[in-house]
Amino acid sequence: MKFRLLRFCFLCILSASVVSAFSLDREAFTFTSYDLSVRIEPEQQRLGVRGKITLRNDSTTPQKIAVLQISSSLDWRSIRAGGKLLQFVSQPYNSDIDHTGTLSEAIVTLPDAVAPKSTMDLDIAYEGIIVLDATRLTRIGTPESAAHSTDWDQISTNFTALRGVGYVAWYPIATEDASLADGKSLAEVLGRWKMREVASTMRLQIAVPTGEGEAPELVVNATTCPVTHEVGQEFLADCTYRSLGWVVPAVVLANYEVIDRSAIAVHFLRGHDASAANYANAAEKMSPLISEWFGAPRSKAQTTDLADPNDAPFESGPLLLTPLTSTDPKLAGLAAAHQLTHAAFPSLRPWINEGLAHFAQALYLEHQGGRRAALDYMELHRSAFSAAEGEREKQTTASRSEDEVKQSLINTSNEELYRSKAMCVWWMLRDMVGDQALKKAFASYHPDENKEPSYIQHLIQAQTQKDLEWFFDDWVYRDRGLPDFKVESAFTRKTLPEGYMLTITVTNLGTAGAEVPLTVKFAGGEVTQRLVVRGKSNGVIRVEVLKPPEEIVVNDGSVPERNKTNNVFKIEGEAAK
Ligand SMILES: [Zn+2]
Repeated sequence: MKFRLLRFCFLCILSASVVSAFSLDREAFTFTSYDLSVRIEPEQQRLGVRGKITLRNDSTTPQKIAVLQISSSLDWRSIRAGGKLLQFVSQPYNSDIDHTGTLSEAIVTLPDAVAPKSTMDLDIAYEGIIVLDATRLTRIGTPESAAHSTDWDQISTNFTALRGVGYVAWYPIATEDASLADGKSLAEVLGRWKMREVASTMRLQIAVPTGEGEAPELVVNATTCPVTHEVGQEFLADCTYRSLGWVVPAVVLANYEVIDRSAIAVHFLRGHDASAANYANAAEKMSPLISEWFGAPRSKAQTTDLADPNDAPFESGPLLLTPLTSTDPKLAGLAAAHQLTHAAFPSLRPWINEGLAHFAQALYLEHQGGRRAALDYMELHRSAFSAAEGEREKQTTASRSEDEVKQSLINTSNEELYRSKAMCVWWMLRDMVGDQALKKAFASYHPDENKEPSYIQHLIQAQTQKDLEWFFDDWVYRDRGLPDFKVESAFTRKTLPEGYMLTITVTNLGTAGAEVPLTVKFAGGEVTQRLVVRGKSNGVIRVEVLKPPEEIVVNDGSVPERNKTNNVFKIEGEAAK
């Protein structure tokens, strides 16, 4: 017994030292191409994969070891290079990037060191089962039912859904460990992986045995995916992703029925007819507004149903997976505005891609219920990112400066920033330059030309006389936090024959500048003008009104602000007479 224990520990130290001796750089290689034959067997809940992957060494040193990771419920069968079997050590690696909370990691000794910028091909084979598993969530205390509403990926006879990186590593990846216990870690690891894979391609040949019954419908968010129904006893599809971009490859297989409209195809489960029709109608109605702003769709939006009404929706490009159980037209409208924008205006930059899809939701609400409805919606989102901004204010000057770049909209992997804050930034830009200028700028946008971070700024700048450099500096290229406006003073002068001229000074106590609306209220009416107040500065504006002014309000809610308790200025006594 003693001996065995000793032996175990010895091996344990040995294997640890083998791994650390090579000082593994798990993120050295970018997987530039995948060519995979995927066999899905719903009856057995099994997945079997054979194929070729191409790895490029993007580190600065030659690499003799490659790390390949798949979900812990899958096992490595073989890894070859140039027809020769390669030696590899397979070990579990804890990481919340997979729903099981663990990866099956193959540490592969390559025949020769791969020089920086060089590539190498590996032939790989792995297989196993993919069942409902939410270990990564339950082990940090998430109640089981809530955990399964988030991690609903599985292979089963009724319903198969496999989302890729971040959910189930059903194709090989290579990342440092990610932990859900540490708030930012998973988003950062995922962000780095997706950034590396932006230009990578994927081909998927998917085979599913059909058996006796009706062949299920397959939905894949690939660039193209022709399906060849029933060849022999199998159902085949040949799918290609021209570039992975920020798309998470996802495969869905179920007995769906379809509502096919010009803007959207809605794939729904039996019994969900009413909700599916509600969604398709909302999307059809929305389509002209989205095209007017973002152009014609570049691909058709696909919506697929999730059986459990509590399941969390998932989106990847123009594919949306969501429970089609609600018949609320407003909820459908909000989701459709977002989804159709993705189909019309793809971007590799999350703040543009997601920011505009959320901005489109605000446009939809404005279209339905006026500007106030849109501002109220943005206010809900604002609380999400205000907390992140508040944390930053406590930092030292040096770390804040570094963070300004890291957390900027062009660099951040923080969803609250590239979704909610970006939406507010787009709304402010729209208020500054006007609808027509912004629509024209969008019409001149080509996703392939979006190489420089300033690309979109130049497109908008070309449509307006206004200087936008300072705005992009404060809100996009750097994260200078939020403004904090305060009406410092207001002087009223009576003008002839009967009118009042106010000279109003607005202070911005925050470090980000903005163009902000300012409203002067008087008995029976109000006048609104806009003024620019840069960070830590004052702005002065003159406003003429016909009746004695009573109150000044800076910011109608369209500019995200740190503190809104000091935005109202009452004009009392002499000044109001
Ligand atoms: Zn989106």
